[in-house]
Amino acid sequence: MISGRIDLHTHSSVSDGTETPAELIRSAAAQGLGAVALTDHDSTAGWREATAAVAGTGMTLVPGMELSTRVGLNSVHMLGYLFDPANEALVRETDRLREDRLHRAERMVTRIGADYDLSWADVLAQATPGATLGRPHIADALVAKGYARDRSAAFAGILHWRSGYYEPHEAPSPLTGVQLIRDAGGVPVLAHPATRGREANLPRTHLLELIEAGLGGIEVGHRENTEAGKQTLRELAEKYGLIVTGSSDYHGDGKPNRLGENTTDPEQFARILEQATGSAPVSG
Ligand code: AMP
Ligand code: FE
Ligand code: FE
Ligand code: ZN
Repeated sequence: MISGRIDLHTHSSVSDGTETPAELIRSAAAQGLGAVALTDHDSTAGWREATAAVAGTGMTLVPGMELSTRVGLNSVHMLGYLFDPANEALVRETDRLREDRLHRAERMVTRIGADYDLSWADVLAQATPGATLGRPHIADALVAKGYARDRSAAFAGILHWRSGYYEPHEAPSPLTGVQLIRDAGGVPVLAHPATRGREANLPRTHLLELIEAGLGGIEVGHRENTEAGKQTLRELAEKYGLIVTGSSDYHGDGKPNRLGENTTDPEQFARILEQATGSAPVSG
C-alpha cells in the first residue's frame, strides 16, 4: 500500500523535462511523494535510470509514457502505464514517432531560421542526445538567443500553431494508441482531455470509441483542464466506469507545474495496478 501522494504524470530530460530521470526521482522524494510515474513523451529510455534512482527512497516508481496521437491537426496525448517496454508494435511506433518529431523540429527551425538567427545546432544544444525532440527544445534555444523570456512566451509567440512556423508531426490515432498500450499489457489513460484551445476536447463520439477499445481512465486533475471540463469528465468516468487520475505534468523548470500539485486517489491507483500486466511498479 502506498502512503503519500501519488503523482502519475512527469517528464524528464529524456523528453522535454529539465531534470534527468534520477534528478526527477530525487525531487519527487524530496516532495515526500508516495508514488511517481515517469511519463516521457514517446520514450521509455528513462525507465532504467529512474528504477535505479528510486532504490532506498521508500517511494514507488510507476514506469509509463505519454504517447503522442493525433486527430487531424489536434494532438491528443495518451498516457500509458506499466506496459511491456519491449513490446514490438509499441517500440516500432515510438521509434517512428521520435524520428518524425526530429524531422518536424528541423523543418520548423528552417522556417524560423529564415526570420531569426536560429540554427538546428542551437536546438540540439538544448536537448539530451536521443531525447524526444519537440517545440520545448526549440523554445529553449529561442530563450538562449534572447528571442523569448521563457518557454511559455516562446509558445505564445514564435512556436504558436498560428505563427506560420508551426508544423505538425505524424502520429497514430488515439484509437491506435489505446490498442498499442493495451496490447502491450499497459493501462491507457487519456491525458488532460479538457484543456482550452486547439489541443482541447476530443469529440464525445471519439471518446466512446476509445472506451470501447479499452481506454482505462481519464486524467481529470490537471491544471490545464477547465473546471467545467473536469465536471463533465467526472460524470463520464462515473457513467463508463473509467479510472480517474490527477497529476502534475511536471517538466522541471520547463513549466510552472509543481510535483504533487494534483494527485491520484489510492483507490484509483489500485485499479491501474489491477489492470496492468506488462510490467511492475518498482518499490524503492
Ligand atoms: P510538441 O509536441 O513538440 O508540439 O510540443 C508540445 C509540448 O510542449 C507539450 O509536451 C508541452 O509539455 C509543451 N508545452 C506546451 N505549451 C507549453 C508552454 N506554454 N510552456 C511550456 N511548455 C509547453
Ligand atoms: Fe511536454
Ligand atoms: Fe501532454
Ligand atoms: Zn505531459
